Amino acid sequence: MTTESQAAERLAFLAAEIARHNALYHGEDAPEISDADYDALMRENNALEAEFPHLVRADSPSKLVGAAPSGHLAKVAHAQPMLSLDNAFADEDVVDFVGRVRRYLSLGADAPVALTAEPKIDGLSCSLRYEKGVLVLAATRGDGTTGEDVTANVRTIDDIPERLSGGDLLSSPPDIFEIRGEVYMAKADFAALNARLLAEAEDPAKARQFANPRNAAAGSLRQKDPGVTASRPLRFLAHGWGEVSSLPADTQKGVMDAIAAWGVPVSDDFVRVEGAEQALSHYRAIEAKRADLPFDIDGVVYKVDRLDWQKRLGFVARAPRWAIAHKFPAEKAQTLLKDIDIQVGRTGKLTPVARLEPVTVGGVVVTNATLHNADEIGRLGVHPGDRVVVQRAGDVIPQIVENLSRDETRDPWPFPQTCPECGSAAEREPGEVDYRCTGGLICPAQRVERLRHFVSRYALDIEGLGLTHIESFFRDGLVQSPADIFRLTRDTLLTRERWAEISAGNLIAAIDAKRNPPLDRFLFALGIRHVGEVTARDLARRYRSWDALKAMIDRAIEARDAAIQAVGEPDEKFATRTAKELAAIVETPGVGPEVALALVDFFAEPHNADAVADLLSQLQPADVIHETRASEVSGKTVVFTGTLETMSRDEAKAQAEALGAKVAGSVSAKTDLVVAGPGAGSKLKKATDLGIAVTDEAGWAKIVADAQ
Ligand SMILES: [Zn+2]
Repeated sequence: MTTESQAAERLAFLAAEIARHNALYHGEDAPEISDADYDALMRENNALEAEFPHLVRADSPSKLVGAAPSGHLAKVAHAQPMLSLDNAFADEDVVDFVGRVRRYLSLGADAPVALTAEPKIDGLSCSLRYEKGVLVLAATRGDGTTGEDVTANVRTIDDIPERLSGGDLLSSPPDIFEIRGEVYMAKADFAALNARLLAEAEDPAKARQFANPRNAAAGSLRQKDPGVTASRPLRFLAHGWGEVSSLPADTQKGVMDAIAAWGVPVSDDFVRVEGAEQALSHYRAIEAKRADLPFDIDGVVYKVDRLDWQKRLGFVARAPRWAIAHKFPAEKAQTLLKDIDIQVGRTGKLTPVARLEPVTVGGVVVTNATLHNADEIGRLGVHPGDRVVVQRAGDVIPQIVENLSRDETRDPWPFPQTCPECGSAAEREPGEVDYRCTGGLICPAQRVERLRHFVSRYALDIEGLGLTHIESFFRDGLVQSPADIFRLTRDTLLTRERWAEISAGNLIAAIDAKRNPPLDRFLFALGIRHVGEVTARDLARRYRSWDALKAMIDRAIEARDAAIQAVGEPDEKFATRTAKELAAIVETPGVGPEVALALVDFFAEPHNADAVADLLSQLQPADVIHETRASEVSGKTVVFTGTLETMSRDEAKAQAEALGAKVAGSVSAKTDLVVAGPGAGSKLKKATDLGIAVTDEAGWAKIVADAQ
């Protein structure tokens, strides 16, 4: 029996966890869990929401479709949203689906319902817009409402015609027709691509390798450079449509036949069936040949064939009532959990990995499985020596889904409190699922990443010291910590391959030029968790000098060590309370408990303290001289929008800050002034709606000029 508070807590966890997996899956194309596990999280979420409807969160995953589009490609709003499908896992779910369709349409209990059935390809959804038969736009699904413009990349895919073939007059394409389908990579092409990337890599250990065909397809399609996409063997299969000016038929089957006639591939296994029974037999037929298909599929999709019925059925929340995806079960096997190892990632995240007695799951030998985090270990109640059920879906890292040796009387497996790589304390912040190593500056697992960050553009910005040099200096033991960078000499460099008088001299000069970094850059360069550029600057402005800042941090460390947990106070509550007290000591606008805690954790870790002391023997952070000029915007919040013609955004921001104003990225009731250049859109409209003062670039220049 779930209590209300347990449900609320679990829903909060699920919202965060599902959002994280969405980002990994859609944004970074690097999923951590199988689709089956993802579906299980979604199902748990939806079941809890059904049971406790008043606890449905504003950020509920049931309201979202995938993740927001990421990165560098231009965004495109879909003329019609690209939605996802509800899932069926058991035969009964399919029978229920057909029953619901009949009830919704008030058909008799035995009324025939024709469906289409087709394999569900594991690819990347894409919308292809044809106007007068010519491809004008291709977009990924993104979050369902806004996708990414991949037109140039899609033009390199052979399956996708530039121009739809006209056919006879009856079937010639309408003026506007958006074809939707999956961009995918065939299994054989995927294997060949990974082999090629491996062969081409300078260092095979660092070769880019895709985890599965889906990732390879997504990574290949979402390239900035269409030339890269062209070199990747992508394919396309249509499964539906978006905005259309007219339809060539009145059934799903009829329209799909027309799409095929126009020259866009449709699955060979696309059929029309009568009712649930025939749908299920088609499902079994496809399941039987699944392994022999040239591409990965994860189920069969059924759609109501009659389009007038589809229209009446409409949508519920994020999915159509007239379609359902019948997923294949994930493949499972039993084995022995031999040991639990902890892996430390580049960002210090500790991930438990199950070492397994080798077992074959769906034709692949599995020896490791991820356990995700301490919560997952607790949920499964696993200990080394237990018998477990391992599941593998697609080529995603296998999961442990069940513990056959579950024994509630045992204590949970003790998650390590120190980093196995460097021995620093491992900390878990309130509300976080992951433990992290706090030995950022000295942890070998994190060092190269930290060093790279230390010299990066917005940190110390050491010219000519890129990742390649950092890695080679680190590998050869020349640079182990940030301080070592300042110990490099011209002579040392000259003993190394490919360094000459001039290049060595230049690098040493570039390093020497950074022996007095501004305090904010110094702080940011340390790579303290949650201390980004903005926070580093806020702290530097508040404390002005390293000595003052360090004195405050020492006081905070003392306070943390002196904090006493009240009798009966839950750990989580105590941690939250302590973090709040630390934030009061840090006493800097914009620095909350989370950041305060991260700051204290970092400097309280002796390894880091040593590394910082060592660094301070080599350089001296420059005090912040923070002068602001009085102006009419001092203490106010300004938003810049539209195109600025006489200055860059960065410059505008610096000007505002020099006048003591705060620059915000979006317009809200707290905004005092909006500076709008040509092309200003929604922000300008919002400002007008809210009655906020608006000026143009010339008006802004006058404010700057008038400042004292
Ligand atoms: Zn470590």
